[in-house]
Amino acid sequence: MDSALLEPYIPRNFCRDYALIKQGHGQLTMFMSLVLGIKPLMDDWMPVKKVKEFRKICKKYNLYVREDVIFENVNKESVPDNVLGREFLSTTSAYGHPLGSREDGQVHVFISKDKRLFEKCMWYPVIIGNRVIFQPRIDSLKYGYILGYPECCIKFFRKYNDWLKFSHLYQAYLNTKANPSFLCNPFLKDTVFSYIYHMPCSYSCRQTIKLANKLRNEIKKREPEYVKITDSRLKMPFLVFYERKFYCFDGELRGNLVRFKRAYFPAPHRHEDRYSADFKKIDRLELKGRSIVLFKRNKILKNLDVPLNTFAPEYPFLIQFS
Ligand SMILES: [Zn+2]
Repeated sequence: MDSALLEPYIPRNFCRDYALIKQGHGQLTMFMSLVLGIKPLMDDWMPVKKVKEFRKICKKYNLYVREDVIFENVNKESVPDNVLGREFLSTTSAYGHPLGSREDGQVHVFISKDKRLFEKCMWYPVIIGNRVIFQPRIDSLKYGYILGYPECCIKFFRKYNDWLKFSHLYQAYLNTKANPSFLCNPFLKDTVFSYIYHMPCSYSCRQTIKLANKLRNEIKKREPEYVKITDSRLKMPFLVFYERKFYCFDGELRGNLVRFKRAYFPAPHRHEDRYSADFKKIDRLELKGRSIVLFKRNKILKNLDVPLNTFAPEYPFLIQFS
């Protein structure tokens, strides 16, 4: 994140200790949701050296922690060809190391008020030895319920999370029949400014609105300033290509046109950011089908054509939540 509007945030009181240990990043609202008893379980990453301190924080909130494995994140390109299952890894991947085996890396942890939920936890694909270890598919489908996601969204995810056929985010856009609600905005989930961590079935999903609103109201009682900032960030215009590539703008959307002061790339997948350099030079863009026309002071500067890949197809769309 390169930016003023999306910079890290530390709340004044509520869950401040969590925010400090995560240095103003991380799933702050999801942790708050756990503490408030709204969300049943979450998973998170914690630097190996911080785990002890993190356990203390969780104990204070009556939360249990289960450590999974240590992740050593690597680029897919650096994974040797002889690793079985290499082709199924996403662009960022990780080696899994046993707990206690090293001082660097991030420990994957599960957190919940209910210890029994740890029985149903799902792990992420990691490379162990020369093999990628995947979770059983059935686990990944059930996992959404344990994380507290709405049923309509889980069902929608099962149908459209097929990266060969669909852009899941675009399908949710097509499925949006009412005004997009900022409570259904999933695009800032990797910043601290989000009330949801799942992909909603539409950007006006009622169940998601209900869930996010409950959380927002509780946080507002404790951290009104944080809620004010989060609301305003979620209401920015967004240009979405697919799950790992999307931008937001300090500006206004009118029809297919965004006028803006500054563009941001809030997705964590930095290598997917192809357009920030171009967006820095302009003050307006227009989406025309699969083309993006870039303007500076009413003059066309450039045309970007969005290719339709066979894997992870991109269907660009513009959206502003209110
Ligand atoms: Zn839904």
